[in-house]
Amino acid sequence: MKHPISGVNMQLLAIGAVLGTGALLISGGGWAQAQENKKRTAPIGYDDTPFLPGQKWRVHDIKRPRPRVVTPAADDCRHQPPSDAIVLFDGKDLSKWYARGRGADRGKMIKPGWKVQDGYMEIAGSTGDLISKEKFGDAQFHIEWATPAEIDGTSQWRGNSGVVIMGNYEIQVLDSYDNPTYADGQAASLYGQWPPLVNASRKPGEWQTFDIIFEAPVFEGGKLVKPAYATVFHNGVLVHHRQQFIGRMAHRIVRPYAPHGAEEPLVLQDHDTKVRYRNIWVRRLTGYDQP
Ligand code: MG
Repeated sequence: MKHPISGVNMQLLAIGAVLGTGALLISGGGWAQAQENKKRTAPIGYDDTPFLPGQKWRVHDIKRPRPRVVTPAADDCRHQPPSDAIVLFDGKDLSKWYARGRGADRGKMIKPGWKVQDGYMEIAGSTGDLISKEKFGDAQFHIEWATPAEIDGTSQWRGNSGVVIMGNYEIQVLDSYDNPTYADGQAASLYGQWPPLVNASRKPGEWQTFDIIFEAPVFEGGKLVKPAYATVFHNGVLVHHRQQFIGRMAHRIVRPYAPHGAEEPLVLQDHDTKVRYRNIWVRRLTGYDQP
């Protein structure tokens, strides 16, 4: 999550909100202090946020019903790519990724500090979002992820990360196995906009899958002429059926679309919880009857 004004990672703001020291953190003086002091608790919803356009719910509405729980089929989740897929992570290295610098490196693209071992990568904590070197528009994404087996925190602090398509449209990664949080922020939500149709989460520590069909927004002359849509399967269970993104990802606000390229990087969010990823591949979508 990026703040609409400053562009600072929302994690800073989230911690700031908990501590009430957002300004200090953004000023850059409080990061280490925050690491020491932060309490890994977060509200389970809000009643003071704006209403979502076209919906009867507020952003992160505490009263919004939580999706019913569906137990997905047992699966070892090692879904290998088809022949035309672009493999962004095969378990070996982060050569297909940059990291978004923090602190002294803020505003720079740097070599990723995420840990790679045993065929997966793990967010090493405060090392910055991962940003794919290659850019994508309409695409099919396959992503495998696991939240920490050991529960350390509540609500949005349990295994928070995110698959942020085009750097703007987040499909939330969270430990949503018996973890109350706001419906539009649980695992597989279109963060801050739409809860998943059902909660198909596996237990913390177990591998889970997202299979996403994403339609990129279209801008003409600086205006939105077609919004973004996502169809999402969580552990093989349909959780969004060509659902429309209201705008860009945001925390506690509605953040409208802003023009960007026809293709943009895939971003994996570093929310300072040790989430793991593996088997990440993408297929660019083409139309029917293409030679
Ligand atoms: Mg997230």
